Amino acid sequence: MPTLEIKNISKTYKKGTVKALDNFSVTLTSGVYGLLGPNGAGKSTLMNIVTDNLNPDCGEVLYDGVNIKKLGKSYRSVLGYMPQQQGLYDDFTLNRFLWYMAALKGLKKKEAKEKITFLLETVNLTSAAHKKLGSFSGGMKQRALIAQALLNDPEILILDEPTAGLDPKERIRIRNFISEIAENKIVLISTHVVSDIEFIAKEIILLKSGKLVLHNTCENLIKEVENKVYEIEADREKLKYYQENYRVSNLYHSDDKIIVRIVTDNKPENCKAEAVKPTLEDLYLYIFESGM
Ligand code: ADP
Ligand code: MG
Repeated sequence: MPTLEIKNISKTYKKGTVKALDNFSVTLTSGVYGLLGPNGAGKSTLMNIVTDNLNPDCGEVLYDGVNIKKLGKSYRSVLGYMPQQQGLYDDFTLNRFLWYMAALKGLKKKEAKEKITFLLETVNLTSAAHKKLGSFSGGMKQRALIAQALLNDPEILILDEPTAGLDPKERIRIRNFISEIAENKIVLISTHVVSDIEFIAKEIILLKSGKLVLHNTCENLIKEVENKVYEIEADREKLKYYQENYRVSNLYHSDDKIIVRIVTDNKPENCKAEAVKPTLEDLYLYIFESGM
């Protein structure tokens, strides 16, 4: 089983004033891993380091026990990367873009032809092959970028916010697609949207201000907020009180009542608060909405 070991990575920007990653360590084997954290948590920085596009201040990344710096080209040949910053070639047709990327990755002509035909089918873009990328919708662009990341049949697939800017239908499509292609690969997906990875990730890594806060299966993560999630009936005035004093994860309106869902360490007093079954969304709020 392939292993990617990320060891004690720290990275600062702006002469050390911005700490993007702070002694981050995790070991990945095959399967889908969700890297979950809000904007600025350090997700893209980590992915840039893991793909050897950025040097950490300290720490190292090992693939099957060997430092990726030492592996160099042979590491790149097993790597597929979809960066967050989309330097898309708007004047290129999709077909030309994929041929161009295949050439950069050193694929032979015959191999490239087969792969491109196959991947266009896989990402459902065959009919758009001769259209310019500039005319693509958000979802089509994301699928085109995923396709280029798969050209070399990577053993390690790094996708930086692959569902950013997509509508719900496109999100579901991309999610299922990633799940399908993940077999026998190490897949790392970053997102700040819980539902993107909730059902497809084998394990979820929560990243906050450059630090790993939790790493576990979805099921075990949710246990962290067991008996910390309550639903309370409220009127407008009470609602305001809860919003100011608690992490409010959800609001339901039914008839003239409001049901407030809160995540808290301390059960609120003087009200009929009922502990309810927690979700990963509740945990996300618990971890990332601090100070309450
Ligand atoms: P994420 O991908 O989770 O949104 P990033 O890795 O992009 O997080 O950023 C982590 C932190 O590092 C943020 O505070 C961001 O402003 C900062 N940062 C990222 N890239 C640079 C850069 N090139 N120069 C200076 N600061 C940066
Ligand atoms: Mg990012």
